[in-house]
This record gives sequence, C-alpha cells and structure tokens, in this order.
Amino acid sequence: MDLRKRTWAEISLDNIEHNYRTIRSTLPEGCKFLGVVKADAYGHGAVPVSRRLEAAGADYLAVSCLDEAAELRDAGIKMPILILGHTPREFVGELIELDLTQTVTCEAKAVEYSREAARLGKTLRVHIKVDTGMSRLGFLVAGGHFRQGIENIVSACRQENLDPEGIYTHFAVSDEPGEENVEFTKNQFSLFIRVIECLKDAGISFKLRHCANTGAVVSYPETALDMVRPGILLYGFGDGGRLGLRPCMRLMTHVSTIKHIDPSLPVSYGGTFITPRRTRMGVIPIGYADGLFRSLSNNCSFMTSDGPAPQRGRICMDMCMIDLTDLPGVNLESLIEIFGEKQSAEELAKRAGTISYELLCSVSKRVPRVYV
Ligand SMILES: *Cc1c(COP(=O)(O)O)cnc(C)c1O
Repeated sequence: MDLRKRTWAEISLDNIEHNYRTIRSTLPEGCKFLGVVKADAYGHGAVPVSRRLEAAGADYLAVSCLDEAAELRDAGIKMPILILGHTPREFVGELIELDLTQTVTCEAKAVEYSREAARLGKTLRVHIKVDTGMSRLGFLVAGGHFRQGIENIVSACRQENLDPEGIYTHFAVSDEPGEENVEFTKNQFSLFIRVIECLKDAGISFKLRHCANTGAVVSYPETALDMVRPGILLYGFGDGGRLGLRPCMRLMTHVSTIKHIDPSLPVSYGGTFITPRRTRMGVIPIGYADGLFRSLSNNCSFMTSDGPAPQRGRICMDMCMIDLTDLPGVNLESLIEIFGEKQSAEELAKRAGTISYELLCSVSKRVPRVYV
C-alpha cells in the first residue's frame, strides 16, 4: 500500500472490457456500441476508460459537454464522440475542429448551428434528439405535437452546413419494473419508430438511429436499432446480475488511528452515537468531501478482512469512525473496502437512499484513481 494515498479508487479496466464484450455479445449482428463516458466515465476516469473502449473496438463515445469531449481529444482519443447536452453556438468552430458530433434538440438551435458553420465555411455533424416521453431534451413529438415536431425536424435537417448523421431518443422508465412502465417504454419506442418513418417519407433518413440505454439493452432488445447507448451497464450495474457483469471500481481506505473509548461517550459531530460499551474505535480517512455521503452516518458498514465494521457517529468532511471492537484482527493500516467487491456500490447506494450512479460519480477528485 502506498501510504501517501489516504483513500483511493481501484479501477479495473479489464472489467470494463469484460463488460463491454459481454454486452456486445448480446447485440444483434451489425449493431454498433456507443459507450457513455460522461461525468468522467461515471467516476472511473474518462480518458483511461475511453482508451480501453477504443482499443477493444467500441464504435462511439458520448459525453455531456464540450469540455468533456475536449479532454478526450486532448488525450488522443480518435473515436467519434457525441455531445449529449447543449453547446452554445459560440463553440461551433471548436466542435468542428475537434471533429465532434453535436446533439440538436430544437429547430432554433439547428438554425444557430447552421449559420455559425456556414460563416466558417464548414459542416457540423449532428444527431437529432427526439423527446418521446422523457420531457427533457429534444423535439416534442408526443400527442398533438407530432405534425409540428416532424416539420421542425425536417427543417432542422435541411439547414445548410449541418450533417444529420443520427437520430435518437431517451427512455424514462426502461429500468423500472411494472406493467405501466413496460407500456410507457413500448409507447416511447413506437413513437420513435413512427417519427423515423415519417421522416423517411419526407426523404430524410439517418445512418445511426439509437435509443437503448442500460434498461433497454437489458430488457428491450428489440430497441437496439443501429446502435446501443449504455452507461451504468458498462460499469457493472443495471442488469440485475443476469449478464454476469463485473463492478469496475473498488473504493478503498485504511485504518489511520485506533483508540479505546470508554462507555457512554458521544462520538463525532452532534454526538449522535453514544458508545454502549468500551469501544475500540478506528478512524478512517474518508469523508463526505471524498464522496462518502453524510446521509450514511450511523447507517452503514465498511468491509474489513474479518467482516463488516459498523460506521459510528456522523461522517465528517475528511474522515469517519468505524467500530472495531469485535474485529480484533483489524489493526492500524488494515485495508478497508468502502464498496466494490465485498459490498456492492448498489447496496451502499440503497442505504444512502440513492442509486449506484450517484455513488460512483460522487467519488471526488481528491480520491486518486489507481488502475489495476
Ligand atoms: C446518461 C445517458 C445514457 C446512459 O444511461 P444509463 O442508464 O447509464 O445506461 C444514455 N443516453 C443518454 C441521453 C444519457 O443522458
């Protein structure tokens, strides 16, 4: 153990590749694979993850914004990269320079991007985003918006200096069980297909039609179309264990101090835990500034080589306490797993009232990523 590292995240790129190959093997022949690496690849490190995906033969990457895309280009990533979010028109030159694909979510933006690209005498590659029920980004096409939506997409695609390579939509409840959710997802998909067919009748077709996020890759294989777009699945979650995917991040720390505290003493801020007995208390150098949610205080355990150690008292910014009274084999510098192998990020996330996504991408930049 490198003792300069108070707390670190071990990342297995081999597991990323294993997950990539496993997911790929479930796809129909010829279906492309877009790996979502936004938010620093869900905390795993966008550059190393993208390099591995590129080497393994993935087709496309997606990020949230221009800065994330530029980071990948700076690192020498050559794959096509789709920006899922908005980019202000001032940066059209940079988008083209970096050979990025920009999402277009409404006609007005298509017009702005087109003007800017024309001014530069260049062409911007775009994907059209359709809102089929997420009510977030995209051309409105549900219900009474259908005709107008199609007209607007046609107009967007006909703007000069834009190259509409793809069209996509996003599912809102594809990872939720229950009949209503199945129906909602199927409705979103059939609306998306209707939009694509209507556009075809208007003489517009796309090389890349895509909609399948993790939930859809797992539960709605018929939605694969030309390309799938999973995120959390790549990092080992969201398949309910069906595909045999592997977690790729293990958040580790160690015991930095041990002290023996008398019974009936309050522990940490607010004194929310009172020692019920003489207690062998370990201090571990991880707190909410590292991404360990304060809401987990007094409500979780971390894994030692001898079993789980209950966390005691409020989690502080930089450290917290664990009860080692019943774990005499755990000593100074013993390794502690916050989540990863012995306790899954999903389990710990549930305790915090959230999802694995948030836990993974909350691991802060103070925590070094160690690639194993
Ligand atoms: C984040 C995101 C994804 C990936 O979602 P997962 O649930 O992690 O698979 C796919 N598409 C879009 C538009 C996204 O924003």
